[in-house]
Amino acid sequence: MSKCRVCRAPAVIDLPRHNANFCGDHLLQLCRRQVEKAIKDFRMLEPGERVLVAVSGGKDSLAVWDMLLELGYQADGLYLGLGIGEYSDESGDYARAFAADRGVALREIDLRDAHGYDVPTAAKATRRVPCSACGLSKRHLFDSAAREGGYDVVATGHNLDDEAAVLLGNTLRWDVDYLARQLPVLPAGGGFARKVKPLVRLTERETAAWCLIRGIDYQVEECPMAAGNRHLGYKAALNGLEQGSPGTKASFYLNFIENMAPLLAAHRSAVVDGLNSCERCGAPTTGETCAFCRLVETASAHDPVPVELVSGKRGRR
Ligand code: SF4
Ligand code: ZN
Ligand code: ZN
Repeated sequence: MSKCRVCRAPAVIDLPRHNANFCGDHLLQLCRRQVEKAIKDFRMLEPGERVLVAVSGGKDSLAVWDMLLELGYQADGLYLGLGIGEYSDESGDYARAFAADRGVALREIDLRDAHGYDVPTAAKATRRVPCSACGLSKRHLFDSAAREGGYDVVATGHNLDDEAAVLLGNTLRWDVDYLARQLPVLPAGGGFARKVKPLVRLTERETAAWCLIRGIDYQVEECPMAAGNRHLGYKAALNGLEQGSPGTKASFYLNFIENMAPLLAAHRSAVVDGLNSCERCGAPTTGETCAFCRLVETASAHDPVPVELVSGKRGRR
């Protein structure tokens, strides 16, 4: 049996990119160090800041919440009820169970109660893949909840696999607007809190191991709306490259942040400076009304659509 690189106890995980195996305790130590390094190197958080964690009930968001609490940050959770059938019901239960177990605050917003639509209905009404309306709703509602709740920072559970997959997609299209904003920290601006991704140095295998070792139950099912999400294909392609050459994913993403992102700073400022405030809600937008307000208008006017009738395969993202 393979042994932990640090203490020689039986290993529970092999990490080819570190060329080593680790026992449970030392895997946790490695994860903590990677998160502390990300927080420090990218200046994500200051001591005493109030953090709102975007909690989906999946492994990454519960892991990041757990780690921030462990590091001593004052971190509340926010769960959005997306209305994706049983998947959403169960995901909410995992988030609530975690909050109850730790005795921490979990805020909740139900899309249908608060805004008159859910993700399957929004997909049907906009004729686009569900992830499009879902992502837009999440970004807007986490921003506005942080502003209303007086939080300094919104933290999300995006991990290295997520960020490398998004980077690959943006690069394949040479989408300079998105590339310019693909940072582990987005500064506060326009009345909105800073946004941080403390898990960018950890893979999803590592965050899953964190949850397993820490005894955190999480939603293991894939979202039924995920079919057609192009990032799944990008992740598979990167995993193929990683297998042949461990460390490829980390160098692809982290070297982009170090070497390329600074070159895009001027473009990033130009994009941000060109934004107006939405005439209805005040959110930044390129037009007069923001995409979220337009989504609410279209989706809330549509009859509710059950999750089974919506396929993630159709339409554009
Ligand atoms: Fe939303 Fe798409 Fe994620 Fe499902 S897979 S939760 S629809 S972004
Ligand atoms: Zn060990
Ligand atoms: Zn708006």
